[in-house]
Amino acid sequence: MTQSTYPRSTIEFLIREGNVQVLLLKAGELHGHFCPFLALGVRAGLIAMRALGVQENPGMEDVVAILECNNCFSDGVQVVTGCTFGNNALIYRDVGKTAFTLARRDGTAVRVALRAEFVESFRSRLPEEANALFRKIVQEHEEATPEERARLTELWTEASFRQLELPEEEVFTVQHLRIEVPPRSRIFASVRCAICGESVMETRARIRDGQPVCIPCARDAHYRLDGYGISVEG
Ligand SMILES: [Zn+2]
Ligand SMILES: [Zn+2]
Repeated sequence: MTQSTYPRSTIEFLIREGNVQVLLLKAGELHGHFCPFLALGVRAGLIAMRALGVQENPGMEDVVAILECNNCFSDGVQVVTGCTFGNNALIYRDVGKTAFTLARRDGTAVRVALRAEFVESFRSRLPEEANALFRKIVQEHEEATPEERARLTELWTEASFRQLELPEEEVFTVQHLRIEVPPRSRIFASVRCAICGESVMETRARIRDGQPVCIPCARDAHYRLDGYGISVEG
């Protein structure tokens, strides 16, 4: 297949070649910046794709990724595996572990997780300047000069590419397992909200006075995924 009909041909070529540096460049296009956990997600994705022998993933749920976190790692996994939030091949479990499982429909699967020792010693292996700027700008959301922001970007980019060189067995645990894969997604009909007039997936509409109404118009509770995990809103 050519690039014009198969958009993942370059990424899958890079996976076959084991070209983790260029895969990280690709992941950066989605993620917006280079950071260590993006790099670790790219590595984890590559390990799982190779261990499960996935040559091609056109995003039709024949292969699914079950993610256990929504941090920077997740974007590396999405780019390399091709299992994404939008193609329904990404299944999110809100358990807060930097880990994911790549599975085929028949349940054969590979789980890749960061080792606890690696996570615990992670900050101490970064330059102190990078840690200090990270605390100030990202963690505490404090005011920073453009020079400080540029310096953090530079240090973080270096740290990101350095993650690619660490021995795999120091960073990850890799397990082959058999799992129950959730069913394929369905296409649901849409209905029109009687209040705002927007189209809404039938299974998400509420009935008010016998009419379908969307959740915001019904002011009904629903789940929300954000940087704190999944919570109920409303
Ligand atoms: Zn990031
Ligand atoms: Zn509405």
